[in-house]
Amino acid sequence: MKVLCILYDDPKDGMPKSYPLKDLPKLEKYPDGMSLPSPKGRDFIPGQLLGCISGELGLRKFLEDNGHEFIVTNSKDGEGCEADEHIIDADIVISQPFFPYYLTKERIEKAKNLKMAITAGIGSDHVDLQAAIENNVDVVEVTFCNSRSVAEHIVMMILSMVRDYHNQHNIVNQGGWNIADAVKRSYDVEGMNIGTVAAGRIGLDTLRKLKAFDVHLHYFDRHRLPSDVEKELNLKFHETVESLVRVCDVVTINCPLHPETENLFDKELISKMKKGAYIINTARGKICNREAIVEALESGHLSGYAGDVWFPQPAPNDHVWRTMPNHGMTPHTSGTSLSAQARYADGVREILECFFDKTPIRDQYLIVKDGKLAGMGAHSYTKGSSTSGFEEAKNYKKLN
Ligand code: NAD
Repeated sequence: MKVLCILYDDPKDGMPKSYPLKDLPKLEKYPDGMSLPSPKGRDFIPGQLLGCISGELGLRKFLEDNGHEFIVTNSKDGEGCEADEHIIDADIVISQPFFPYYLTKERIEKAKNLKMAITAGIGSDHVDLQAAIENNVDVVEVTFCNSRSVAEHIVMMILSMVRDYHNQHNIVNQGGWNIADAVKRSYDVEGMNIGTVAAGRIGLDTLRKLKAFDVHLHYFDRHRLPSDVEKELNLKFHETVESLVRVCDVVTINCPLHPETENLFDKELISKMKKGAYIINTARGKICNREAIVEALESGHLSGYAGDVWFPQPAPNDHVWRTMPNHGMTPHTSGTSLSAQARYADGVREILECFFDKTPIRDQYLIVKDGKLAGMGAHSYTKGSSTSGFEEAKNYKKLN
């Protein structure tokens, strides 16, 4: 079979000769009891870069030893890109949300052999799920592999935005010491109202991590959490997103991108937020309206916006979120720490082993199966497509 894998660039100076840590902590299981990815074999060293071209998700030996063709490329956008040449006869495509190959309707329809799209990570909105459903392409992802990595990033971003870390760090880098400048936008989170839009794996883990800060916790989700969890965390459930945003000082967005959530944070919803609130969005860029976020930061209606997700990706060099005031954006990194990479590389291998051995892929990994939403897909997504506008990704020009 032909496996096409789209990965991000290697480091500019080549693959690291050494890494800061000797090894990774050993995790036994995820908090809900789900087991970590458990492939039969592994051909990489956990803790090393796997998500970039030379890392190859540690899959080359396994695939080639089993007689498969393995194409790895970072050329994924614009006319004549390498991924488009290979998708035509690929059986399986692997892509990462951090550097997504947008598997649009047109691409899916051209890919006559395509059987499965694997997301090396979580969040399969870069695949036109409607087209996958209609063309019988299964879509799977490595559920839970980086949910807790993202929750850590969210806590980091909430603290850094509310305390105004970026500004303070800049003052030091510039040789300064003006304490008043450093603290004129700096607050404690203690006592604040913090709410998550969606309390799935990431949202719930974020709530648990935040409890230690003595804040008031809120959530909105289309599935209500068990009452013992609400009690344990002293959670306030909101029937609507409007009700949540009206009372929260910090709103963190943790739902998948699908037709129900695309453009959810538009001008209207943002206008209902508490004056001076912060948004942390590590879910997907398209859940927030690009211009409405900029306007709200410029007017001061929002005090800050941080996250690691953009639309499209890579974000064009002139994407306004790169230069808007009081932002704490990173490139899409929260779910691709070296720790997370080891888990999703294992997960992709587990999925491939199941596929080749014709054994069932875990239900939790399924988004689309046999022409319908299945597993996590049925729980967390609605049918439809959220890929429109992806072409803009070709406008990104690599910096030296
Ligand atoms: P999950 O499936 O465990 O949780 C998703 C939750 O969203 C579910 O509880 C679901 O009920 C809820 N939801 C879905 N549609 C909703 C709607 N319209 N309104 C309210 N709630 C809704 O997934 P997860 O592991 O928590 O990940 C969530 C999302 O985070 C992913 O789909 C992905 O987009 C994003 N993510 C980002 C990164 C990153 O690196 N930045 C990494 C992993 C996941």
